[in-house]
Amino acid sequence: MTSSNTYDAIVMGAGIAGMYQLYTLRQQGFKVKVFETGDGVGGTWHWNNYPGCRFDSESYTYAYSWSKDIIDEWTWTERFAPQPETKRYLNFVADKFELRKDIQFNSRVAKATYDEANTEWEVELDDGSTARAKFVISATGPLSAFTLPNIPGRDSYAGESCHTARWPVGDSGWKANDFSGLRVGVIGTGATGVQVIQEIAKTAKELTVFQLAPNWCAPLNNGPIDAEETAHNKENAQEIFDQCNATFGGFLHAFDEREAASVSEEEREAFFEKLYAEPGFGIWLGNFSDIMTNPEANEIITQFIAKKIRQRVDNPDVAELLIPKDHGFGTRRVPMETKYFECYNQDNVKLIDLNATPIEEIVPAGMLTYLSTPQALTPSPVRCAVSTSPVSVVRKWSISGPTAPAPILACKPRVSPICLLWLARITVRLSVIFLAVSSRMLSGSVTWLAICAIRT
Ligand SMILES: Cc1cc2nc3c(=O)[nH]c(=O)nc-3n(C[C@H](O)[C@H](O)[C@H](O)COP(=O)(O)OP(=O)(O)OC[C@H]3O[C@@H](n4cnc5c(N)ncnc54)[C@H](O)[C@@H]3O)c2cc1C
Repeated sequence: MTSSNTYDAIVMGAGIAGMYQLYTLRQQGFKVKVFETGDGVGGTWHWNNYPGCRFDSESYTYAYSWSKDIIDEWTWTERFAPQPETKRYLNFVADKFELRKDIQFNSRVAKATYDEANTEWEVELDDGSTARAKFVISATGPLSAFTLPNIPGRDSYAGESCHTARWPVGDSGWKANDFSGLRVGVIGTGATGVQVIQEIAKTAKELTVFQLAPNWCAPLNNGPIDAEETAHNKENAQEIFDQCNATFGGFLHAFDEREAASVSEEEREAFFEKLYAEPGFGIWLGNFSDIMTNPEANEIITQFIAKKIRQRVDNPDVAELLIPKDHGFGTRRVPMETKYFECYNQDNVKLIDLNATPIEEIVPAGMLTYLSTPQALTPSPVRCAVSTSPVSVVRKWSISGPTAPAPILACKPRVSPICLLWLARITVRLSVIFLAVSSRMLSGSVTWLAICAIRT
């Protein structure tokens, strides 16, 4: 082992968390190496190139708060920036602080083993090469590993197919994101499914959506940020971040102090209508204080959103399929949409309920589902975009060593002596909760880890 691959700290992942962790540790004088599976910075915003991918957090609240230069020099064009803009933003940050010189791309960490004798970690990459460090920090992201559905015959499909997290880039029609003349199938209707469906529906000859479980969706109400608002946001950036830090989940939106039953039905309805027409998560996180805690209050907002879906979808049977029946509004992260429900009023869009007609098999010509008789629903030539839940990457790499403890979640933690003692010998998984603006949550973890490393 040469000293050239021995570091004070190794960071796994160069997403928004890993980039900030690198910057923070480097500022403290540490010799740091970042290993990143992909070939560029940005993590989520590097990988997710699918059409329609964008923030559901207000752009300027998701942005880094730790550099006034970044705040002054970067201008967000939309309230909820599209993925290409966020990817440019993170590359701008990487350029500005010369982060790439300490990042090794195309390098997936496969294993981390604690060496008791030398009180340091040995990290092994996929290609078998190794590096050592006192600290190993996992910034591998909560959503960075994608899963393909385990459907028989998956690889036999003759058309083009991909997962949304690995959307083809290059000079093909996929890059142009023009689906004219194509018959397309989408499996999955979570937040990403909703974004990609409403985009593909604009141009596809035929779009078939395969839905296992609907989600409660609400309008994003996106729009451009004009020069006046940009100036205001830059001048008041710290106040905006402070406001986020004071709210549930780090969003701009704070719950109303009133309870749902404390006002008249008319007043409640007017309040819901106002929130439904406003940008972002206000309808969820700026709503009455008890919609997430009181089942009766939750039922009131749930019925309001169901009513909206019934109003927006022409076919009552299709509307019912799009209304969740197994959970109340807001009890899971709410996918934000732009004319998503109206897609189902178009002649070129068809919704398949996988509970009634499960996919039995994927065949070269398309998806074989069961009604009373097998039917191939999306015959070739088609494209198939898969958008199913990712799994935690923790399962993908192994941690070993005689007494190596399991990774811990670090979320707005407090520095405690026990943590400090442990830090010399643990890996820490930077993680964020799913009901939060990730960057607001993880910045606390990043600075906490840097402080711990200094004190150890
Ligand atoms: C489509 C989409 C939209 C989202 N929109 C929002 C939003 O609007 N607001 C919000 O708050 N959050 C959103 N999120 C959540 C998002 O994941 C976080 O906001 C944030 O990007 C997480 O940053 P991260 O650095 O922790 O992880 P990531 O961005 O996931 O980066 C992790 C990096 O680690 C790398 N990696 C993984 N395993 C290894 C390994 N073993 N070795 C080396 N490298 C590895 C990955 O390649 C990846 O580049 C969204 C997520 C998705 C998928």
